[in-house]
Amino acid sequence: MPDALPPGSTIGIMGGGQLGRMLAVAASRLGLKTHIYSDEADPPAFDVAAARTVGSYSDAAAIEAFARRVGVVTCEFENVPAEALQAALRAVPVYPPPFSFAVAQDRLTEKTFMRELGIAVAPFAAVATAADLKAALGQVKLPAILKTRRFGYDGKGQALVRSEAEARDALAQLEGAPAVLEGLVAFTRELSVLVVRGLDGALQYYDTVENVHAHGILATSRVPAHISAGVTAEARAIAGKIAEALQHVGVLAVELFHCEGGTPALLVNEIAPRVHNSGHWTLDACLVSQFESHVRAICGWPLGQTSRHSDAVMTNLIGGDVERWRELAAEEGVAVHLYGKAEARPGRKMGHTNRLTPKL
Ligand code: AMP
Repeated sequence: MPDALPPGSTIGIMGGGQLGRMLAVAASRLGLKTHIYSDEADPPAFDVAAARTVGSYSDAAAIEAFARRVGVVTCEFENVPAEALQAALRAVPVYPPPFSFAVAQDRLTEKTFMRELGIAVAPFAAVATAADLKAALGQVKLPAILKTRRFGYDGKGQALVRSEAEARDALAQLEGAPAVLEGLVAFTRELSVLVVRGLDGALQYYDTVENVHAHGILATSRVPAHISAGVTAEARAIAGKIAEALQHVGVLAVELFHCEGGTPALLVNEIAPRVHNSGHWTLDACLVSQFESHVRAICGWPLGQTSRHSDAVMTNLIGGDVERWRELAAEEGVAVHLYGKAEARPGRKMGHTNRLTPKL
């Protein structure tokens, strides 16, 4: 077992959003401190951290100086520039490793990586120009989704296209950003697997989650998922294979389409090299949450127990939903988590609830 970062050490977190905030809280429970680096003046994670730096993700000198003050650097969002990760690496270990970010940041790299591992993904083709689009439409059947290769999240940077004309319009909207055309998958349900990989290569899994999205944003996550033991095993095998191939350290989220009765039955949609919204139920339904698991993994601690003691439904509080906080706080069997964001803009994740019921 490599040397562990002992209690009292400081974890550096790039990004100050709600994921950073929940990582910082989990770290504090283990006697670890956090130092948050954010390009925002007052992000949610600043409220709960021991130290804070406001700086740009393109300021390599500032990132290196920040990294010199901590024992390990991790990230709470996936679009951290490669140069920022390299700057931190000059000072301390960075987990998950930059390779996990390189794969997850680019949809084309990600899908090609899966295909090379023998893991099924939706039919896809790279599109940068009108000529590429014509060729791509020969390979990928309509309807399809045109997605930017980089910087897409919560359904942003993507358009459903049902005809060649719509595809041309969608490409024009991207103003030259490289894209992928992806076949629309007629899935039965969406699943995700949260896998944890330790510094020593140990692997642990949370129960497979069933997710429902609305307008491209995660609405609810439910455990147990309505799937067979065989599908559960296959989903785990896929997630484990990806974590191994990346030599990942920390939590890795693998989002899947389940096509019941199809061949293949599971296709990978995308991966996130970090804690994930579809793992928020673990805060209340597991002894060790995804946030604590991530902290344990990147600090070289023994991984915790990932098994579930309750059934759970996580519901995101988006925009004005958060105004129901008083009613939700009074509801039996509900844990309320709020992120401390001042302004409830439409589409903004303000918090979530976990509704627990006894495990059947
Ligand atoms: P993404 O940003 O790629 O995770 O997409 C957000 C959501 O859009 C997914 O969770 C799905 O609900 C839907 N979606 C994305 N890609 C596809 C696809 N190829 N086929 C069907 N639905 C999709």
